[in-house]
Amino acid sequence: MTSLKPHLVDTYNRHLNYLRVSITDRCNLSCIYCKPDRCVPKLEHKDILSYEEILRLMDIVIPLGITKVRLTGGEPLVRQGVCDFISRLAVLDGLKDVSLTTNGIFLKDKLKRIKEAGIRRLNVSLDSLDPKKYEQITGVDGFQKVWEGLEMAREMGFDPIKVNVVVMRSINDNELLDFARLTFQYPYHVRFIEYMPIGVNESDHFFKYMPTSLLQEKINAYRKLIPVPRGPNDGPSQRFRFEKSLGEIGFISPMSHHFCRTCNRLRLTASGKLRPCLLSNREIDIRGPLRSGASDHELADIFRKAALSKEAEHHLTPEHPLGKISQMSSIGG
Ligand code: SAM
Repeated sequence: MTSLKPHLVDTYNRHLNYLRVSITDRCNLSCIYCKPDRCVPKLEHKDILSYEEILRLMDIVIPLGITKVRLTGGEPLVRQGVCDFISRLAVLDGLKDVSLTTNGIFLKDKLKRIKEAGIRRLNVSLDSLDPKKYEQITGVDGFQKVWEGLEMAREMGFDPIKVNVVVMRSINDNELLDFARLTFQYPYHVRFIEYMPIGVNESDHFFKYMPTSLLQEKINAYRKLIPVPRGPNDGPSQRFRFEKSLGEIGFISPMSHHFCRTCNRLRLTASGKLRPCLLSNREIDIRGPLRSGASDHELADIFRKAALSKEAEHHLTPEHPLGKISQMSSIGG
């Protein structure tokens, strides 16, 4: 039997210090790549971890070495009470970094509270700079709201502000340079993410997918991409900038250059499942034990076992999608 280590260390000696917490499976958008099956049943409120339950789990997992938390969803800003929850989370001893991934629709209304709650770093998903196309991709006429949210976040001093763009062939790949050029004018970190074939039953995955190498080629033909030296806390993004740009351009390549070897993440889904890998359907229930009286010690062991069950790498390819049960909207990206 494998003995459990005090910290979250997996069998490949990766130290997991980063927890992504999905606080809801609900979203105010219906992005074509995220939940194309619009009939996915929603979790009932009772099936979603309460804020109290998440905070109890945080008290258990921080001593196991988690120092970084990112809140995600669904759309985290649609859950009631999210700002109060963030304020309680951000002050937990031992957490060095609490951040948020959002589609930005409610950003403007909530930025003041988010800042007061202690968040300084934002990831905003924005797949088109064209309001009509934005609506085609997301199902909502919301571009202006997101844009104003970004502007306000910048004025309020959030830093960095990362703009995440999932690149899809024939959908938004013609905007590649428009996004890249934003970095001349704004200090945003524009990050191009490879499309992942998740949770979709369609056969067009292979068609939509564009590898980072191709994107870099197209951008380099316009202006030279200058590598930015990696910092100790950098995630999987390869970072570049243009000469004289204010912002950065990043590439996240889960398909063509997966970063599994250095993956330090564990995920907690809205329904209380621990998910060691975004791209594997393996999940370990922690909500059941939590609600049936498990001690802190027992819950800590569940975290450790989840860490130990992390696979060496994912096996997802554009030709082999993950299948329907793993809707990204319920895992949190
Ligand atoms: N609602 C929030 C948002 O929009 O950022 C958080 C949840 S969303 C699932 C997290 C991230 O996953 C977003 O940046 C989204 O673009 C990305 N994502 C979702 N499905 C994806 C896919 N099939 N391939 C690549 N990225 C995807």
